[in-house]
Amino acid sequence: MIWARTTSVDDTRGLAAALAELARPGDLLLLAGDLGAGKTAFTQGFGAALGVDERITSPTFTLVNNYEGRLELNHLDAYRLESVNEVLDLGVPEMLDDGGVTVIEWGDVVAPALPADYLEVRFSFTDGADDERLLELVPVGGRWMARTRAMAAALALWIHEADAPASVLDPPTPEDPA
Ligand code: ADP
Ligand code: MG
Repeated sequence: MIWARTTSVDDTRGLAAALAELARPGDLLLLAGDLGAGKTAFTQGFGAALGVDERITSPTFTLVNNYEGRLELNHLDAYRLESVNEVLDLGVPEMLDDGGVTVIEWGDVVAPALPADYLEVRFSFTDGADDERLLELVPVGGRWMARTRAMAAALALWIHEADAPASVLDPPTPEDPA
């Protein structure tokens, strides 16, 4: 798990662009966090780094937007989905097989209907400045787990050890077997 902190909307786009350098065909990212937390901003930076020239906007009403880039970007917003299974109706599993990268806002909600192999990015507001956001990157499954170190390196600019709970920085030593 990686904690990162951004201080402006462009900073979040920059972080996402750095992460996108690690993207591979078939990747899935689920973005979680309240309205205005920065999920769409993140997708804009991510898409720009994938070579998307088109303006990336919120797919709230269209449910899914597709963009051409070095890798194709499928951008979904699950906020308005009536049921978890709608992601199947929208063809998300097929998108993953198609060689593009799929980013789903409010994706944590639909995770149960999808393969357990994705990067979850949790956005939260902080007690600090209005433009500050905390991002928690949680690899679920092998695809992103294998890239944890690469992610930490790519996101070094945004990582502050103080953001990680003490238990992660200083894990309890397992007791010696008796
Ligand atoms: P979401 O898709 O999560 O609802 P958006 O990306 O659409 O959120 O909006 C985020 C809003 O917060 C924008 O108005 C943006 O300018 C503002 N903002 C302020 N600070 C940040 C930050 N550090 N990262 C992302 N957005 C920020
Ligand atoms: Mg949004």
